[in-house]
Amino acid sequence: MINVALDGPSGAGKSTIAKAVAKRFEFIYIDTGAMFRSLALKCIEQGIDIKANPAAVEAMLQNTVLDIGRDDGQQLMFLDGKNVTSLIRTPEVSKAASDIAVIPAVRQWLLETEREFAAKYDCIMDGRDIGTSVLPNADVKVFLTASAEARAKRRLAELVEKGVEVSFDEVLAEMKYRDKQDSEREVSPLRKADDAIEADTTLLTLEESIALVCDIIRKVID
Ligand code: C5P
Repeated sequence: MINVALDGPSGAGKSTIAKAVAKRFEFIYIDTGAMFRSLALKCIEQGIDIKANPAAVEAMLQNTVLDIGRDDGQQLMFLDGKNVTSLIRTPEVSKAASDIAVIPAVRQWLLETEREFAAKYDCIMDGRDIGTSVLPNADVKVFLTASAEARAKRRLAELVEKGVEVSFDEVLAEMKYRDKQDSEREVSPLRKADDAIEADTTLLTLEESIALVCDIIRKVID
């Protein structure tokens, strides 16, 4: 199996680039952030205060089933049998996902699912800790970065297109909150793996970013 690990901060373009790369190389694209988001959504729906009550989050995992489906290259997320794909992209869920991701039991619970997928498929998996923790032996590791402002601008355009009403300042603030929490948490923080290749997309168009990541992959697997 060929496994590509794609890590980086929120809004660096990981999912858009991973989808395009998956198409070109005929890999399966696995979006691990969507798994954290689905668990966060369940906490919100059940009124669980993630920060105040991590024990309740851990207990919730016992009766939670996450499943992944595919629709024309897109990953569908099923939470306890319900398709939540379009419900997990709001700023509220983004923040809650970052909050839930600091809980070690949550990370451990997801680790098994993530590794099972990687063992089954040629895949590109995106997240924060894929190269450092989930797939330390991945064939290719890419660490995607861009300035906070560039990332917030792109994320805003994405949200507006989906009809979510939000301002640039809100998106930038949420992004900085997540950057800080994701890189400062104790378990599997956002960090470039020593053997990852860094790709800074601040000044690149989407097409240029995709080409850059494809080149990095081709050099390793060809
Ligand atoms: O990538 P995305 O923005 O969908 O991820 C949502 C949140 O889930 C991130 O802010 C991060 O806290 C968490 N996450 C993580 N490890 C991953 C993927 C996502 O901690 N592998």
